[in-house]
Amino acid sequence: MIWAATAVAAPTIVFCLVLGPSQVSRPRIKAVLPTSSPARILRSPAPPLVFDELLIHHGLHLSTNVAVPLRLVADSALDARRRISSWLARSGSESISFTQPYVYVCRDLRTLHTVRRHHEIAAFGIEQNHSFESEGTFTPRGGYYAQLGIIALVAGRNQDLRLDIVHEMTHVVLEKYFGVLEDVIDEGLAEVLSPWILFTESTSPRQTPITNINHANQCSTTLADGQLPNLRTLFLLDYWQFRDKQSDNLYFALSWSLVDFLLRTDDPRFANLFPKFLNRARSLGSAWRALAEVYDIRTLWSAWHNHLVEFSQLHWHTKWGQWYMLGDRIVGSLRTPGLAMCIYQQSLEPPFDVSFRLPRGLTSRQSAGCVLGHGLDAYYAVQIRFGGREINLSQYRGGQWAGNHPAIQIDSGVTLSDRSIVVRCKPSGEILVSLSGEVLARFLAAPDSLSGRTGLIMELRQEDDQEFSRGDVLFESVRIKRLQ
Ligand SMILES: [Zn+2]
Repeated sequence: MIWAATAVAAPTIVFCLVLGPSQVSRPRIKAVLPTSSPARILRSPAPPLVFDELLIHHGLHLSTNVAVPLRLVADSALDARRRISSWLARSGSESISFTQPYVYVCRDLRTLHTVRRHHEIAAFGIEQNHSFESEGTFTPRGGYYAQLGIIALVAGRNQDLRLDIVHEMTHVVLEKYFGVLEDVIDEGLAEVLSPWILFTESTSPRQTPITNINHANQCSTTLADGQLPNLRTLFLLDYWQFRDKQSDNLYFALSWSLVDFLLRTDDPRFANLFPKFLNRARSLGSAWRALAEVYDIRTLWSAWHNHLVEFSQLHWHTKWGQWYMLGDRIVGSLRTPGLAMCIYQQSLEPPFDVSFRLPRGLTSRQSAGCVLGHGLDAYYAVQIRFGGREINLSQYRGGQWAGNHPAIQIDSGVTLSDRSIVVRCKPSGEILVSLSGEVLARFLAAPDSLSGRTGLIMELRQEDDQEFSRGDVLFESVRIKRLQ
């Protein structure tokens, strides 16, 4: 997963560490912690918070202060455990029972590593031959350490950990179900199932088509370069090859697309085989052997290849942030305060309309809107800020914000939530922002500067108080229409 911190900063790479199962016993945590437990060894300055038996240690560094959103984080984790377990159980297995992992939220994984060294613990879940020092190119964001039953997450103040913890909790459930599982299926399932948990309430991931736009774009580029690996190569990648920084998360993207295809395809040759594949992977202890047994590998690769070709026809390309398509809805998601932007590939000349429906429950820290005249190094952004109840037009040019037009206040009687917004761009440079036919704001942009690409933009703003916002904004019924 790739997340943008700000409009101009390089994206932060998200990795996760998943190690094999272990014989280490994991005592069930109640009130009293056994002396040998990792929880005792890694004492945090703040007492752990217990959410329905999920124990979260937080504040392992003073700059980490995420106490407010931890309830949301825990809810997401417990929801993931419940729904993924019951989905797997319906795939033909008995119900899964397992103890909860300890969850540690800290400034960075090095903090945990340091604690490990101080306490001379022989194995902390980092592979024996690798350390943070020797793996200078590897920047883990967090991980599930099966050997110790730990989920460790990295978080700064007020960061949104829901995608991270749902991803890692998927690994917890999969490890209990399968034991050791090849990264392709383990990471692929974690990437496919996490947006299903967070953005839908359906009981099966097959019911809801979800496209991870970031991954789809990357798969499409790989295909255009003629570098799609064969399936055997993909399954044979070792732990570090899979996470090689040079690949820029390519194997996470390919794994997502393969699992997404196996799970959701309607192709009659493969449509009902996925539950059987999962069952065989479990009993054989090898996803590769199960794949070769249940599918015809050559036909599967060819069908998967054709499925990837569809991504090259995707109209939306991500610029910053994490974006998903759920049917005709588009979700932008941010882990930290900053901008997320998704660009429509079609280039437009005014006059044209960009319309979309705003979600319910936008908070004062969020804004949502559209991008106009996106070129190589310039664009306008129309943003509706819920906090100040205002509409902004700002221009980005030459690597920086070139200036804001005076914000237009929205009358307190106007409801914005769950309403359709139309942004109309005229050849004169005039921009009209309307709600149900009523013009709320009128701006004048530089003539000709609205030509180019359009897109969606959302912002999560940094504030000093403790208010916590979900990072994501949902755009419904997005339409971009050229006018005569
Ligand atoms: Zn992972």
